Amino acid sequence: MIIGVPKEIKNNEFRIGLTPGGVRELVHDGHQVLVQQDGGAAIGFDDAQYLEAGAEIVADAEAIFARAEMIIKVKEPQPDECRLLRPGQILFTYLHLAPDPEQARLLLASGATCIAYETVTSADHGLPLLAPMSEVAGRMAIQAGAHNLEKTQGGNGVLLGGVPGVEPAKVLVIGGGVVGINAARMAMGMGADVTLLDRSLDRLKALDMIFGGRLKTVYSTKEAVERFALEADLVVGAVLIPGAAAPKLITRELVSRMKPGSVMVDVAIDQGGCFETSRATTHQDPTYVVDGVVHYCVANMPGGVARTSTMALTNATLSYAARLARLGVREALAADVHLRNGLNVHAGVVTHAAVAEALGYEY
Ligand code: NAD
Repeated sequence: MIIGVPKEIKNNEFRIGLTPGGVRELVHDGHQVLVQQDGGAAIGFDDAQYLEAGAEIVADAEAIFARAEMIIKVKEPQPDECRLLRPGQILFTYLHLAPDPEQARLLLASGATCIAYETVTSADHGLPLLAPMSEVAGRMAIQAGAHNLEKTQGGNGVLLGGVPGVEPAKVLVIGGGVVGINAARMAMGMGADVTLLDRSLDRLKALDMIFGGRLKTVYSTKEAVERFALEADLVVGAVLIPGAAAPKLITRELVSRMKPGSVMVDVAIDQGGCFETSRATTHQDPTYVVDGVVHYCVANMPGGVARTSTMALTNATLSYAARLARLGVREALAADVHLRNGLNVHAGVVTHAAVAEALGYEY
C-alpha cells in the first residue's frame, strides 16, 4: 500500500503521524511511505532520518494526498486537507467529529473512509489510541503544577517534594483514570503528599493495590472534594464521564476559599473542564488567576511535548496502521470489532452511532 504522512498544518501543531521508526516498520512490511518535506523537522525527526528509514520525501501535501491510499495524521484534517481527500482513500487520525459539523460535512463530501483514533476501542473497555495522550497529559499536569507553584508564576512558593525537615506539598487528583494515575505517579515520584478521588470503587481498589499506602484513595463525594481542595497546594482535574461534559466538581465559591497561590490544573478542559472557574488556555498563555488561585487549562497539553507525544502515538497506532495496510480496510475492519469502532465516516455516510447522533445524521 502507498501510505502518506503529510506535515500537520493546524496552528502550533508540531507532532507528525509517524516517527522514522514507524516508517521503517511499514517499509519493512513491503509498503511505500511518502513523508512530507520537513514534516518532523520541528521535533528533531529530519528528512534524512525518514529517508534512511525507507521513506520517499515529497515536497507538498497535494502530491501526498494525490498518491497515497492511506493518509496517517495526528490532528483532524483542516478544510484544505479535507478537499484533497478522495473516494476510497483511508484517513487514519484523530477526528473529534461530534462537535465539528463543518469537518463532518467535508469528510462526507470527500467519499473517503475515515477512521478516528479516539473511537477505536480495546477488549478491556479502554480507548487505546487516546490513552497515550492521557498518559502524557497526566504526567505533564504535575510538571505544569510544580512550575506554577513557584512564586514568580503566581504560586504560593511551595516545593512539591519539600526537603528534609520541611513537609511536601499536598496534591489532590480528582479522577483516577489514565490521566489521574499518571498524575498521581508523577506527584508521588516528586515526593508530594497525594490524595486521589474517584467515583469507581473498583478503580480505587486497583489503585490501592498498585500504590499501597503511598497513595491516599478516597471515594469522591462533594464533602471529600471540598475537604481536600481546601488544604491542597495543587489540584489536578482528571475526571471523564464518557460522551458527556465534565461535571463541575469545584465551584466558584469553593475556589474563593482555597489557599491563595494554590494551583489548579484542569486536564478535563477538553470536555468543558471540571472546575466552574475553568476556561481553555493555550501553551502561549497557559494560566490566569481567580481569587488568588492559579488556573492552568491548556486544552492540548500533549502538543507541548510534541516529540514524546509523537513517539507515544506511533507506538499505539502502528500495529493498526500495519494491519490496515496489509489487509486493506475492508478485511482489517471485518477482522477486528475494536478497530471497526474507529470507523466514523465511509463513502459519504456517518458510520458511528454516537457521532451520528451528536451531529444529527441518520445512522
Ligand atoms: P478515564 O476515563 O481514563 O478516567 C476518568 C476517571 O474519572 C474514571 O476513573 C472515572 O471513574 C472518574 N470520575 C468520573 N466522575 C467522577 C467524579 N465525580 N469524581 C471523581 N472521579 C470521577 O479518562 P482519562 O483518559 O483519564 O481522561 C480524563 C480527562 O482528561 C478527559 O476529559 C480527557 O479528554 C482529558 N484529556 C485532556 C487532555 C488535554 O490536553 N487537556 C489530554 C488528554 C486527556
